[in-house]
Amino acid sequence: MPHSKYIVAIDIGGTNVRTYLVETNGAIIVHHRDLTPSPPSPTKVINVVDNLLRSDHRYQDASALIVGVPGLVDSEMGIVRKNSNLSWVDVPFAKLAQEKWSRPVLIENDVRLHTLGELASSTASQNMLCVVIGTGVAMGIVVNGQIYKGSHLIAGELGHLTVDTHGVLCGCGKMGCLETVCGVRGLSRLYSQCSGEIVSDFPRQLIDGLSMGNTCAVEAWRYLGEGLAWALSAAIALFDPEKVIMGGGLGVFYPAWKGYFWPLLDSYLIPGTLRPQILPSALGEQAVTYGAISLARSAGWMET
Ligand SMILES: [Zn+2]
Repeated sequence: MPHSKYIVAIDIGGTNVRTYLVETNGAIIVHHRDLTPSPPSPTKVINVVDNLLRSDHRYQDASALIVGVPGLVDSEMGIVRKNSNLSWVDVPFAKLAQEKWSRPVLIENDVRLHTLGELASSTASQNMLCVVIGTGVAMGIVVNGQIYKGSHLIAGELGHLTVDTHGVLCGCGKMGCLETVCGVRGLSRLYSQCSGEIVSDFPRQLIDGLSMGNTCAVEAWRYLGEGLAWALSAAIALFDPEKVIMGGGLGVFYPAWKGYFWPLLDSYLIPGTLRPQILPSALGEQAVTYGAISLARSAGWMET
């Protein structure tokens, strides 16, 4: 297929599935969203995406599809090796998607796609960490301007560091992972246990609760801050980044909860050493679309 000025970027999350028709300059022409199906089998997820793509004829103008999926993603083979939130193991998602949509398909870990997008922005650093806090928690690692994936694709799985040895069971099978206190489900659970209320409007309910001094909201954010500071202090000691970008549904609200995180992080880092600059993502959810453009250009599927 000849390259064009459009691609489709698809973001498959534990809560939502999002599709975007994106132009070379980064403009989003059209976008749609639906809930991630339950149970989220690959076939059901592909059907949800298919319905979204059929809802607007302009998606037909795209030359290729770039798909962000959480978990261990082998982008070269097009296989999702393991995903604890979707319960996928060795799913050949690129092949399934290509058969469905008859266009070239590339898949990548969603947080690495997000990080590629941040890397393309004007505020990027050659050495940075991109922490994405949403349904899950993970971190993109940029070393000397390159994304670092590790030997077994698990570099940056910050959400599965143990931060509470007496904590609850994580989707990965371990107890007390950062994701159980820091992700959407963890934070909602902590708030509900304390208040007896169901979280119906996330994260607004918890952000508003924080600004109003709601005791249960404050306690939930304090627990998040403790866990994240503990885990991120280790990452900073290992990678010495110039910048740490906070992204995802909770990360973009970093200024609101910084007070429950930064003082602890500062106390865990080596005294007298320079601290990285910590910033909320300026791109928000659009980081994934910029990352998709970057990948599509590398593959020669999109005009530069
Ligand atoms: Zn885990």
